Amino acid sequence: MGIMAKETGSLESAIAYAESICIKNGTKLTDNRRKIFEVVHAAGRPIGAYDIIDALSDSIPGAKPPTVYRALEFLLEIGLVHKIESLNAFMSCAHPGHTHAVQMLICDSCGLTSEINDQEINSNVVSLANTQDFEVDHAIFEIHGKCSRCQ
Ligand SMILES: [Zn+2]
Ligand SMILES: [Zn+2]
Repeated sequence: MGIMAKETGSLESAIAYAESICIKNGTKLTDNRRKIFEVVHAAGRPIGAYDIIDALSDSIPGAKPPTVYRALEFLLEIGLVHKIESLNAFMSCAHPGHTHAVQMLICDSCGLTSEINDQEINSNVVSLANTQDFEVDHAIFEIHGKCSRCQ
């Protein structure tokens, strides 16, 4: 597997993927879900729920937090966005379309965040957890530091 490209995929391909997943699951990429995804994707960096609501003021006037959280849950479930727990923020997946190991490199100075996907790291962690008789559900690694520009 190794490390894969970290650039953000195009909005069109991400939307097309989302629609195909929804059809497969018998659900729908509703207008709200699509608009919220577009905001997360356009941010190009981790964005918090309240910033998403602000950004939606034109396209979904009066958007309420529960609406946005529900849509985000949906987008997380189908793998279009990742949640960055340490920032309480969301970021669009760099290459949706398959499940994958995720490690996030987060610059604490400028906020630049990029996704790397090394399956081996996750496999090692799962093996270690198993030696402790622990069953891993999911694991996202959030690595804080400084990007090349901020060093
Ligand atoms: Zn991803
Ligand atoms: Zn930086």
